Parts: sequence; structure tokens; C-alpha cells
Amino acid sequence: MPSFVNPEKCDGCKALDKTACQYICPNDLMVLDKEIEKAYNQEPDMCWECYSCVKICPQQAIEVSGYKDFVPLGASVIPMRGTDAIMWTVKFRNGMVKRFKFPIRTTPEGSIRVFEGKPDAKAEDITNELLFGEPDILEVEQLPTL
Ligand code: SF4
Ligand code: SF4
Repeated sequence: MPSFVNPEKCDGCKALDKTACQYICPNDLMVLDKEIEKAYNQEPDMCWECYSCVKICPQQAIEVSGYKDFVPLGASVIPMRGTDAIMWTVKFRNGMVKRFKFPIRTTPEGSIRVFEGKPDAKAEDITNELLFGEPDILEVEQLPTL
């Protein structure tokens, strides 16, 4: 299901140079109509359905719904982002509403130290065919070679 902007909720990211949805879309699908300060998905049929725009929108203005030709009655999926969970509100075609809350993290924001205990990067590593942390991270002494 591709994403669609609800123009009643979108505030155009308050006329910033680049809106949050434009910034995050990996396929450059989001466009801001500067006359009305509303964004829209210019090619829903090219949408990767990654939902990055859905999650980043500060106004919760981006909904997910099926293509209108085969979901003509307006079913939709609307996210509500929290700091540790996303609440998805699913509206079915018959009007039924269900909500599902999914945790998105188990640690406080900013508390993860990804590189703690790892060696500093060295310039000569740029020619090393191993990925960062290999082979230790794979818990082997060395990787097989041809
Ligand atoms: S991120 Fe949301 S509020 Fe900002 S322009 Fe896009 S749809 Fe509108
Ligand atoms: S769901 Fe992903 S690919 Fe589709 S418009 Fe949003 S950010 Fe772009």
C-alpha cells in the first residue's frame, strides 16, 4: 500500500527548504506544492512502501492506503508515533477500526553506543576487504579465503 498525504493535517513542514518527507523518501517521491504549502506523493505507483515518510512526518499527516482502483471505499492505515512505540490505526472498508501498538525500541533514545569497545578506524582499513568488526564480530578467528 503506498503512502498518501492528508492535506488537512499537512502543514508543509512550516515552509522549510526541504520537508521531512522529501528528506527521507529514498525514491524522491514527495513534492511540496509551495502555493498551498502541502506535500503530496507524486507517483504512488512508484512507492517502495518503506513507510519512512509515514514515520517521520511530524504532523502524522501521511496515511497508507491501497490503490483507489481496488480499494475504492477508503480503507487506511494511520500511524501515531511515540518515543518508544507506534500506534497503527487501521480503518477497514466497512468502518471497523482496530488499533495495534508496536514497540520500536527498548532503550532510551541516544543511549546506544554502537562503537563502544570497537577499535578506531584506521586509514589503511579502506583497502581492507573485511567489513567493520570482521572477523571478531562473527566469532571466528579468520574468514575463509579462496
Ligand atoms: S513531513 Fe508531513 S507535514 Fe511535512 S510536508 Fe511532509 S506530509 Fe506535510
Ligand atoms: S513510503 Fe517510502 S518510497 Fe513511498 S513515498 Fe514514503 S518514503 Fe517514499
